[in-house]
Amino acid sequence: MLDYQAPRDLLKDRVILVTGAGDGIGREAALTYAAHGATVILLGRTSAKLEAVYDQIEAAGYPLPAIVPVDLKGATAAHYRGMAETFAQQFGRLDGVLFNAGLLGTLSPFEHIQEKEWDEVMQVNVKSEFLLTQALLPLIRQTAKEHGDASIVYTSSSVGRKGRAYWGTYAISKFAVEGMMEVLADELENTQVRVNSLNPGGTRTRMRASAFPAEDPQTLKTPADLMPLYLYLMGPDSRGQTGQTFVAQPK
Ligand code: NDP
Repeated sequence: MLDYQAPRDLLKDRVILVTGAGDGIGREAALTYAAHGATVILLGRTSAKLEAVYDQIEAAGYPLPAIVPVDLKGATAAHYRGMAETFAQQFGRLDGVLFNAGLLGTLSPFEHIQEKEWDEVMQVNVKSEFLLTQALLPLIRQTAKEHGDASIVYTSSSVGRKGRAYWGTYAISKFAVEGMMEVLADELENTQVRVNSLNPGGTRTRMRASAFPAEDPQTLKTPADLMPLYLYLMGPDSRGQTGQTFVAQPK
């Protein structure tokens, strides 16, 4: 899938929300979607990082994005409903969501997992995605009806399909994400909304460096290397594909 070649105007006129758009894979995805014609809604917790992505998109002459600064740790269902209303008013459509923001937490033996950290990781990686999906679904379904398709992409991990020692809450949260994807995909089977998950595999970002501090980052794929798959799943060429986990770097 990393050899997919996206046409330049793949996402023309589409509106796409990217969570965690200020850094790492999400930042690259936001820039790439904009470069392929999308109006990107940049959601993240650090305004300065989102503004830097905004400036880069503006300087390149791509469609102007929108910025939504929000900490997924504290946001409530009411915040997400308000957000959905704003998107409906401002754009009138939402063609795709890349749920990318994620928290690694502390890698530790199971017995040492702290309840407070469990709650934080589950909140950011799972509950916020559940609540945001629920709030956005009416607009996504309406967009799919009016324009032919829409795509929801969750971000998975190898440890979300096969548990691994010491990956604790993070791994468990990614299993939950996979479950959410499968339940929703099954429910939406007869609609034009496709729902999949994407496992990027080891990628050169801050999160990877904190999980593997001794690793040489030069041995890893960069976020840019993965973008063909991110484009494929967001664009109309993946119509009909739903309920699947896409692995960017199969062994
Ligand atoms: P980074 O840590 O580089 O980026 C994560 C992004 O999520 C950042 O923009 C961060 O914001 C944002 N974020 C974290 N917590 C919150 C929060 N509470 N509210 C809003 N935004 C938040 O990670 P990656 O780019 O590496 O990871 C992206 C996704 O890919 C994650 O879901 C991760 O689990 C998954 N993944 C990554 C792999 C890898 O090797 N890199 C491998 C497998 C899966 P800020 O910049 O402000 O901190």
